[in-house]
Amino acid sequence: MDLTFSPAAEELRAELRAWLADNVPRAFASGDAVEFPSLDEEFAFLQAWQGRLARDRWVGVHWPHAYGGRGAGVEANYIFQEEMARARAPEVINRIGVNLVGPSLMHHGTEEQKQRYLARILSCEDVWCQLFSEPGAGSDLTALRTVAVRDGDVYRVTGQKVWTSWAQYAHYGILIARTDPTASKARGISYMIVDMRSPGIDVRPLRQLTGSSEFNEVFLDDVRVPVANLVGAEGKGWEIAQTTLAHERGTAPRQLVIHRTLLEDLVRLARASADDGSLRQGVAAAAIEVEIAKLNNWRTLTRLVRGEPLGPESSFIKLYWSEMSQRMHDTVMRALGPRAALVGHDAPARGRLADSYLYYRAASIFAGTSEVQRNIIAQRVLGLPR
Ligand SMILES: Cc1cc2nc3c(=O)[nH]c(=O)nc-3n(C[C@H](O)[C@H](O)[C@H](O)COP(=O)(O)OP(=O)(O)OC[C@H]3O[C@@H](n4cnc5c(N)ncnc54)[C@H](O)[C@@H]3O)c2cc1C
Repeated sequence: MDLTFSPAAEELRAELRAWLADNVPRAFASGDAVEFPSLDEEFAFLQAWQGRLARDRWVGVHWPHAYGGRGAGVEANYIFQEEMARARAPEVINRIGVNLVGPSLMHHGTEEQKQRYLARILSCEDVWCQLFSEPGAGSDLTALRTVAVRDGDVYRVTGQKVWTSWAQYAHYGILIARTDPTASKARGISYMIVDMRSPGIDVRPLRQLTGSSEFNEVFLDDVRVPVANLVGAEGKGWEIAQTTLAHERGTAPRQLVIHRTLLEDLVRLARASADDGSLRQGVAAAAIEVEIAKLNNWRTLTRLVRGEPLGPESSFIKLYWSEMSQRMHDTVMRALGPRAALVGHDAPARGRLADSYLYYRAASIFAGTSEVQRNIIAQRVLGLPR
C-alpha cells in the first residue's frame, strides 16, 4: 500500500504553500477570530480574496483547462483544500458554485451554458446559491412544491425555498421545481438556472445560532426563467440533482485539517487545565478520531483517483466527520469551562473556539442529516431492509 501523493501533486503543494505564505492576510494566519463590521463587508472581502486566488489559477485546480482550471485532477483538489485549511486561509466563498454548480453543469449543461457560466464561478464574478430545500422538503426533496409552468419560451416559477446559503449575495441559483404536477414525486422535477436579480424574487435573511445570517428564505412569485436556462431535459431534474448532492459529500480534506488544528487547540487547552481524568480521555478519543477521519478520506480519495464512482460510502465520510466534530467541540467546551462564555478581547482565541462550537452544530444537518446518512448506509452499504 502506497500512502504518498504523486510527485506532481507534491510539487503543486509546495508551490501553493509558498503562495499562501505570501498572500494569506496576517489576521487570519494568527488563528484568532477575524471580525468584520458587517456581513456585507465580510462577503466583499471574501469575494475579492477568491478573485485573487483565481487570478493565480488556484481555484478549481481540478477543473479542465477549457473552463478555467488547471486540469490537475482530484488529488490536486484534495491538496488545495488541505493547504488552504493548514494556512488558515479565508475560505473560497463561492463554494456552491465551485463544488456543486460547476461539476453539475460540466456533466449535464449545454456547451453554451458551460461557456457562459463556468469561468465566472472560479473568479467569483458570479456568486451562486442552491435553491433546493423548502419548508416541507429537506431530507425528502422529492416532496418539493415549487412549481415551474411553461409559458412560451419561459417558465413561470412560484414557490418558497429555505436555508439558502448566501442567496442575498448570489447572482444565480440552481433551482429544482415541479414542471409536471401529475407525475409521481421525483419524475416531474426539472433543474434550472435562475437569475437571482429577476423580478418576483424576495430574499429574507435568517439569523443563525452564531449570530450571523448566512442563509435565507427565498420567495419566488411568478419569476420568469428562460427555457434556455433548463439544465438537461424537462422532467429529468432529479437525476441532475443527484450529481449536485453527490458532490456535497465525498472527501472532506478541509474538515480534516480544521479538526486537526482543533485537536492542537484542545491539547494546548488541556495542558493548561486541571485534569479531571475525563478530559484526558476526551483528548485521546479526539486524537484517534481525527486519525480515523484521515484514513476514511484517503480511502475515498483512492477511489476517486482510480476513476471509480463515489458510491454510498461517501455518506460514511460525512456522518463520521460531522459527529466527530461535535464530540470534539464538546471536549473543547469542557476544557474551556466558564471561559467559553467570554466574548471580545478577553475570550480565548477571541471567541473563535466558541463560534466554532456553535457553527458545527449545523454539521449534522447540512448536506444530509446524520439520520439520513445512516439510512443510506443501512440500506445501500449494509443491504438492510427499509
Ligand atoms: C448551515 C446550513 C446551510 C444550508 N444551506 C443550504 C443551501 O444553500 N441550499 C439548500 O437547498 N439547503 C441548504 N440547507 C438545508 C439542508 O440541506 C437541510 O436542512 C437538510 O437537508 C435537512 O432538511 P430539513 O432541515 O428540512 O429537516 P427535515 O428533513 O425536516 O428533518 C427533520 C428531522 O427529521 C429527521 N428525518 C427526516 N427524514 C428522516 C428519515 N427518512 N429517517 C430518519 N430521520 C429522518 C432528520 O434527520 C431531522 O433530524 C442548509 C442547512 C444548514 C444547516
